[in-house]
Amino acid sequence: MPVILKGANVANAINKNTQTLVQMLKKTGIEPTLAVIAIMPNNSDLAYQNTIKKECSVLGITLKVINMPHNTSTTQLCEQIEQINKNNSIHGCLLFQPTPKNIDINKIRTLLKPQKDVDGITSTSLSAVFTDILDNNLGFAPCTAQACINILDYYNIKIIGKHIAVIGRSLVVGRPVALLLSNRHATVTICHSKTQNLANICRNADIIISAAGVANLVDKTFLSKNQVILDVGINIVTNGKICGDVDYETVLNYVEAITPVPGGVGTVTTAVLLYNVATAAKNSVKKEVV
Ligand code: NAP
Repeated sequence: MPVILKGANVANAINKNTQTLVQMLKKTGIEPTLAVIAIMPNNSDLAYQNTIKKECSVLGITLKVINMPHNTSTTQLCEQIEQINKNNSIHGCLLFQPTPKNIDINKIRTLLKPQKDVDGITSTSLSAVFTDILDNNLGFAPCTAQACINILDYYNIKIIGKHIAVIGRSLVVGRPVALLLSNRHATVTICHSKTQNLANICRNADIIISAAGVANLVDKTFLSKNQVILDVGINIVTNGKICGDVDYETVLNYVEAITPVPGGVGTVTTAVLLYNVATAAKNSVKKEVV
C-alpha cells in the first residue's frame, strides 16, 4: 500500500512553530498581522480566504481582508500596496493570483516590500530563491513551492541526488519549486505544455511534482517503480468537486507515496503562509531594535 502523504501532519508541525512564535511576539506587544488582497474573488478564492481566516484565528494572527472590485486598475492596486508597505502594524501581504489581465503584475513585484512578501511574489524574493540566499531575510519562497519541500522533509523523503520531474514552470509553483529542489542538490527536469515525451521523462524520475492544473494529466503511463508523487494541481470538476493533476485512484497502487487532493499540498501551503507572517513579524522587531 502506498504512503498517503497527508498535508495535515505537516501543517500541524508547522503550526506548532507558528503558534510558539506568535505567543512570543504577543508578549512583546506585537500582533502578527496579514493583509490579504483579492481582486474580484471567485468561489475558490473565497474558500481559500475562509481557510486562512479560520487558521489565523486558531494561531492568533490578525487578518485584514481587502476585496477589490473587478475594474481595479494597476494604479489603484499599487496605492493599496503602498499603504500596506507604510503600515507598520501589517507584517505580511498576500495578493491572490492570478490577478486580472489588466493588472501589471511586474509593477507589484517591484513595489511590495520583500520583508512583507509572505507569498514570495516579488522580484527580490524570487531572486533570493534563485541565488539561494533566503536565509538573509530577503523575502520568502512562494508558499506552495516551499510546501512541497516541507512535505518531502517531513516524510523523510530524500531530495539530494534524486531526479525530480516538475510539471509546470509558473513563478507561483513550478519554477520556484524546481530551484528550491536544485538548491537541495536534486537533479530537476522542468516540464511544461511544449515538453515532448512528458510521460517518458516522468517515468525516469524518482519524484514527480505536478503543478499543471490539468485534471488526470498524470496517469499510469507516467509511472515506474518506487516513485513519490506530489500533486499540486487544484481542478474543479463535475459537481464542484476538486481533484488534482493525478488520476489518483488509478495510480494509487503503483506509487510508493502520494499526496491526496484535497488534503495534501494545499493544506501545507496555508500553514507555510502563516508561518511566514509570524516570521515577518519577528523580523520587523529585529529591524526596529537594530
Ligand atoms: P499556471 O500559471 O497556469 O501554470 C501551469 C503550468 O503547467 C505552465 O507552466 C504550463 O506550461 C504547464 N502545463 C499546462 N498544461 C500542461 C500539460 N498538458 N503538460 C505539461 N505542462 C502543462 O498555474 P499555476 O499557478 O502554476 O498552478 C498550477 C496548478 O496548481 C493549478 O491547478 C493551481 O490551481 C494549483 N495550485 C495549487 C496550490 C496549492 O496550494 N495546492 C497553490 C497554487 C496553485 P506552459 O508554461 O507551457 O504554459
